[in-house]
Amino acid sequence: MSDRRKACPDFDLRLSMIRQHAITVSGTWFLWINILFSAFILGRNYFSPESLAAGPHHPRHLLEISMVLILALSAAVIFILRMAPDQQAPWLSKLTHWTMFCLSGLWALCFYVFIASGDVRIVFPFSALLIFTALISLYFDGRVLLSFTLPVWIVILVCNFVYPTTLTALNAILYVLMAALFESGRRILRSWFVLAIRREQENVDLINQLKLLANRDPLTGIANRRSFQLLLEKEIQRLQQTNAELTLIMLDVDHFKKYNDRYGHQAGDECLINVARCLESAARNTQDVVARFGGEEFIMLLPDTSPQQAVAIAERVKMNLQALGMEHKSSPISPFVTISQGIANCVKGTSAIRLIAQADAALYQAKEAGRNRWQSYQPED
Ligand code: GH3
Ligand code: MG
Ligand code: MG
Repeated sequence: MSDRRKACPDFDLRLSMIRQHAITVSGTWFLWINILFSAFILGRNYFSPESLAAGPHHPRHLLEISMVLILALSAAVIFILRMAPDQQAPWLSKLTHWTMFCLSGLWALCFYVFIASGDVRIVFPFSALLIFTALISLYFDGRVLLSFTLPVWIVILVCNFVYPTTLTALNAILYVLMAALFESGRRILRSWFVLAIRREQENVDLINQLKLLANRDPLTGIANRRSFQLLLEKEIQRLQQTNAELTLIMLDVDHFKKYNDRYGHQAGDECLINVARCLESAARNTQDVVARFGGEEFIMLLPDTSPQQAVAIAERVKMNLQALGMEHKSSPISPFVTISQGIANCVKGTSAIRLIAQADAALYQAKEAGRNRWQSYQPED
């Protein structure tokens, strides 16, 4: 288990984030339990004070003080957890951790009073109940759980030696058994917790992979038409709200059928991959989107780009392709692979379909004009 976790830092990060969040959620429940238990002890102390008066020591005031402190501290921390603006803030889990530590000290004081005053009948059932409710609410964080249970446990065991007549050997055995039960329960619960997070992480990874597959062109690895359409819609919406510019370049490999016929389909695929790399290197930043529109047609979505800037990019595409110098002996226009490009600038109110049609019309004009060139869209009068 530890090796697998080492190999997956994402998982460790997610685990610690969920732990942090869980501690504030189930910590709240446990604080309510603390309020209930301390109110019960206070009530018992009030209605049957003789139960404490029986022993050799009478530190009842300590019991009352610790119960009132538990009540006040739990209520205050519940209030803070409720009111915190960011429920996932790391300081909340730190606060819960330290509160558990303080509560544990107060409960330890309470058990000391019970044992010192000879009221031992309540010690085992009550400490067992408290420790197992702590296990249910804090099992996923060993540190917090231990900082709550250990002080209680140590005080009960130490008191066992200091006041040997009050706790019997049977009680000591019961405590050891309880510790064993507690630890085995903690391990089982924690393993289910880790398994649930691991399954969730696997599902998230799977969804991300599927998203990637749904948005990528399998041959070239660039964005596919579907993802391009979604991004274009988003950019057009942004354009309606701002004065930003948006330009499209539609690109088509010249005489690609002839390329396939001469060099084979496999070589045609490699040519398309190289063309995609050329377009990517001509793009300026992560905002520019290079997508495969279909077959040997590509499209570049250029947000915040004026028609002049788009022309510079179109020139760069042409130069990159020239520099690559992919042989195309069957092309009637050049001994190398060339590309024709249509540029269309989006004005407010233009729909995605219309903008694509304009870029396509400009591309058609570039083809008609002799290919291996770019053409800006000219609206017909
Ligand atoms: P034009 O200069 O007018 O664009 O001529 P063209 O031959 O490039 O255009 P046409 O539409 O006649 O042919 C496109 C070719 O692209 C036909 C098709 O077999 C090829 N093609 C489409 N997709 C792929 C692909 O994924 N791999 C390969 N190797 N070829 C493809
Ligand atoms: Mg073509
Ligand atoms: Mg074509």
